[in-house]
Amino acid sequence: MSEPRSTGTVQPSLEAGVDEILIEEDALQRRIGELGAQITEDYRGRDLLLVCVLKGAVFFLSDLMRRIDLPVEVDFMAISSYGAGVDSSGVVRILKDLDVPIEDRNVLIVEDIVDSGLTLSYLLRALESRGPASLEVCALLTKPERRENEVECRYIGFEIPNRFVIGYGLDFAERYRNLPYIGVVREELIAEA
Ligand code: 5GP
Repeated sequence: MSEPRSTGTVQPSLEAGVDEILIEEDALQRRIGELGAQITEDYRGRDLLLVCVLKGAVFFLSDLMRRIDLPVEVDFMAISSYGAGVDSSGVVRILKDLDVPIEDRNVLIVEDIVDSGLTLSYLLRALESRGPASLEVCALLTKPERRENEVECRYIGFEIPNRFVIGYGLDFAERYRNLPYIGVVREELIAEA
């Protein structure tokens, strides 16, 4: 197991929760730049509404939308996730709905991570029923090994192995979102939860 390397911007107390760095800050930013350029090309001349899934995707959204060279709009949704643990409860609920109607609009869902695919397939069904002109997904991370529900993601940042990751918006029991990179949470923390 490799030691987490200090980035200089993270406090040692925060890094103590990290087993290993999986994706460094500069690799994240490079890939997000590529995704932004691709989205710019694909949606040029069309209206685009980014739908950000709270809370995990906020860092990704904020960096991604600054790399899209189009007049995009943004709205937010919150849906229930895993609570303090690491496994899907199988129950998905809308905690905060969109503020705007999406009928006849080009909607791009911005997600942090697709794991079993349960959350996203629920969300896609819910939004599809509102009659958008198009509905696509941009996910920063995907864990293909864990997929139970097949979901179509048009844009994917990185495929990662089946490990519980934290940082860059992703939490463990609501903490570690403020790590600037994607890391693997220490096993001991999961065991203690
Ligand atoms: P799914 O429904 O695809 O199994 O799970 C999707 C949601 O579970 C994500 O939006 C995220 O909130 C949470 N999740 C899944 N895997 C991880 C992980 O490795 N780390 C963190 N922090 N959250 C995860």
